[in-house]
Amino acid sequence: MNTPNSTLETLRLRTRAFIDDEVIPREDVSLAHDFAAQDRLIQVLRQKARETGVRGPGIPRELGGLGLSFRGRAVILEESGRSVLGPHALQAGPPDETNILMLDRLCTSAQRMRYLEPLAAGQTRSCFAMTEPPPGAGSDPAMLQTRAVRRNGTWIIDGRKWFISGALRADFAIVMAQTDSGPTMFIVDTDTPGYRMVRVIDALDGFISSHCELSFESCMVRDDAVLGQVGDGFAHAQLRLEPARLTHCMRFIGMARRALEIAERYVSGRESFGKPLGQHQNVQTLIADSHIDLYAARMMTFDVATRMDAGLSVKQESSMAKVFVSEAVGRVVDRAVQMTGAFGISSDSGLSALYREVRPFRIFDGASEVHRSAIAQRALKPYAQSQD
Ligand SMILES: Cc1cc2nc3c(=O)[nH]c(=O)nc-3n(C[C@H](O)[C@H](O)[C@H](O)COP(=O)(O)OP(=O)(O)OC[C@H]3O[C@@H](n4cnc5c(N)ncnc54)[C@H](O)[C@@H]3O)c2cc1C
Repeated sequence: MNTPNSTLETLRLRTRAFIDDEVIPREDVSLAHDFAAQDRLIQVLRQKARETGVRGPGIPRELGGLGLSFRGRAVILEESGRSVLGPHALQAGPPDETNILMLDRLCTSAQRMRYLEPLAAGQTRSCFAMTEPPPGAGSDPAMLQTRAVRRNGTWIIDGRKWFISGALRADFAIVMAQTDSGPTMFIVDTDTPGYRMVRVIDALDGFISSHCELSFESCMVRDDAVLGQVGDGFAHAQLRLEPARLTHCMRFIGMARRALEIAERYVSGRESFGKPLGQHQNVQTLIADSHIDLYAARMMTFDVATRMDAGLSVKQESSMAKVFVSEAVGRVVDRAVQMTGAFGISSDSGLSALYREVRPFRIFDGASEVHRSAIAQRALKPYAQSQD
């Protein structure tokens, strides 16, 4: 693997050993959708991660994390992604990791003490509430229906959100709502009257997080609940969306790599028609195409990470990487299932869980179709201008 320096390589090896020795042996398919049991296990693993020195690769150093660059994180999060439990064990999973980055840029000093520091220390949990059931905001954020109205020095929030990851156990939600001055983000404690976790949505994936429906009915917060500037909610959300997209790519590459490792082991041991499966040319094509997909996915992710570290705009590149990686990891896991036959379909192999986890990635952080449209529009822009 291409790693830029020896300190990072040492951390990569330590992370890999932690995932192999502590996390993978504790994987259990019966934990899928049992978020309380997952949570108990994650607390145990986080303590071990802390003792091993691998906790918080993306959390800034001043907040107690390892403070890695995006390029460094690309290496470590890929290793963590080899287990569905790995990213949360390292406190490098969604939505907290990217919420920490956004809060670090936007919090007032009071919000920093109250929300950011306990979150970074792993003492609290958060969620990010943007998406709404139809006819509200989904792919098109401008369809935002949740409203916040200023009254007597407070804000009254009314609306509905759904598919909010991590909301089941969140201590606070970062909520996007429309105001008279434009979209605005609010930090809402989940015990605020009028805030209600309506249900956990039964979803295809079962390990990344719970996904919840929330309602806000005359939910009153004070002025100091505003995160950043009133009216700048969409601009502020960009601080989170690009890193979220990229770190998902890192973790999912690890997940697909694990699927390929399982398949490679199987085709090396299992025989058909007088030779190991791996000696059949069609199977070799499946293996080779998966390595090509993973290599390309990793290089795109490394490139976007390097550009982000340099402070360059990555609008186009991060869209292209997100589309390619989300589709490539799906192809790799699908091929792994194919190569392992019935074993791959069973829970015994671990592949069925990986298959379920990678599928939603083509939808969240912007559906492939939406990114493709944006990529093409940016590419065509100079031509439209030249015809003016
Ligand atoms: C596992 C998971 C976790 C999530 N976690 C969160 C979270 O924590 N917080 C949060 O706020 N949201 C979360 N979401 C929601 C996610 O952000 C939305 O699903 C996403 O923005 C798409 O919105 P939608 O589901 O309403 O799809 P819709 O907007 O209804 O779109 C449906 C489909 O239509 C197509 N489409 C839409 N627009 C276009 C277009 N312009 N051109 C071509 N095709 C188009 C795409 O194929 C798209 O998949 C999560 C979703 C999933 C699946």
